Amino acid sequence: MPRNIYSEDHESFRASVREFVERTLRPRAEEMVRDKCIARDMWREAGKQGFLGLDIPEEYGGAGIDDYLFNAVCSEEISKFNAAVSSCFGIHSDVCPPYIVDLGTPEQKQRWLPDMAAGEKICAIAMTEPSGGSDLAALKTTAVRDGDGWVINGSKTFITNGFQADLVIVATRTDPAKGAKGITLFMVEDGMAGFTRGRKLDKVGQEESDTAELFFDNVRVSDENRIGEEGMGFIAMMQRLPQERVGAAVSNISHVAQILAETLDYVKERKAFGQSIGSLQHNKFKLAEMVTRVEVTQAYVDDCLVAHANGTLTSVDAAKAKWFSAQVQNDVLDECVQLYGGYGFMNEYRVARAWRDARVTKIWAGSNEIMKELIGRDLGL
Ligand SMILES: Cc1cc2nc3c(=O)[nH]c(=O)nc-3n(C[C@H](O)[C@H](O)[C@H](O)COP(=O)(O)OP(=O)(O)OC[C@H]3O[C@@H](n4cnc5c(N)ncnc54)[C@H](O)[C@@H]3O)c2cc1C
Repeated sequence: MPRNIYSEDHESFRASVREFVERTLRPRAEEMVRDKCIARDMWREAGKQGFLGLDIPEEYGGAGIDDYLFNAVCSEEISKFNAAVSSCFGIHSDVCPPYIVDLGTPEQKQRWLPDMAAGEKICAIAMTEPSGGSDLAALKTTAVRDGDGWVINGSKTFITNGFQADLVIVATRTDPAKGAKGITLFMVEDGMAGFTRGRKLDKVGQEESDTAELFFDNVRVSDENRIGEEGMGFIAMMQRLPQERVGAAVSNISHVAQILAETLDYVKERKAFGQSIGSLQHNKFKLAEMVTRVEVTQAYVDDCLVAHANGTLTSVDAAKAKWFSAQVQNDVLDECVQLYGGYGFMNEYRVARAWRDARVTKIWAGSNEIMKELIGRDLGL
């Protein structure tokens, strides 16, 4: 079914993202796996091409485009190449900027946004802690008022871009008595005394992303590094998580659609019992189901995308798109591995890596269970 949400402008933008993927990213795919990160010069190139600051206002070095469909196009094309790389760029350019653009002071915007848009400074967001990620309101990292500043203590884990980040938006507890209303966001910057990182975590998939633990040992920050009002951090995160979740859904479905297309080519070539393995009836029916599931899911994600671009996407619909696309992605990729037989278990085959890379999409940015919890609550249950 042809998709009809994109205009000619979106499609010509897509061509430029594709060119960036082919020229700058794909030739260095193995380097990213080896180094467990995207090299700085690739970030800068993405910045130069204008892919990192789509919704950052022009006065702060961005493109100032108020149309989320451009962000989606960027995510789709990079996800087709690689889910981990898409997640790193997505956190930096899609998840983090709204916190600064919407909540930052003019001085903060001037201080951080131009370097983010240029790919000179990499940004991360640190919510999850070793003691838990699902129950965000229970986070333990503290920021305690001290004179005219704050002192941060605690740790975060599983932070995408965490090892390289120059800027980290950190969710802290500023009032232990107030639960979710006692959470405040601060920007912690590379080089601040007491801010250290652990190793790049050794993951089952997505080797290309530098996922890390972060430690805060009496890190002093001033009020100039507080993002938004004191006590408003939880609300700020809840308001922006729908964008993170619809972005995750865009990436999930684009990633699986691409690998499914590659699998279709494979099953037409590969022979068993004198015919292509794709034309064996069991496999043909499986592929028919897989294509149907991906296309139907894409249609729902597209509706969510249009709603988000129009400012009408609800957090519940974003949750539906996020969990369902993750489930479809994982189910379909598992079937794709099966269709490749033994080759599907070899790391040199894209399908194998894609299958490993996809596993986390049911866990991060709010697990599938948490998404269903949100949907269930909305049903009055
Ligand atoms: C590769 C990777 C990158 C990540 N990047 C980031 C990042 O950039 N920033 C960041 O802040 N975090 C990041 N995360 C963390 C991620 O968001 C958390 O792992 C996730 O929210 C789950 O939290 P947890 O791991 O502490 O699991 P827990 O909260 O301990 O949950 C464990 C299990 O219990 C289930 N569960 C919990 N509560 C309920 C409930 N009420 N009902 C039913 N089941 C429940 C969960 O669904 C899960 O299956 C990343 C994680 C990974 C693996």
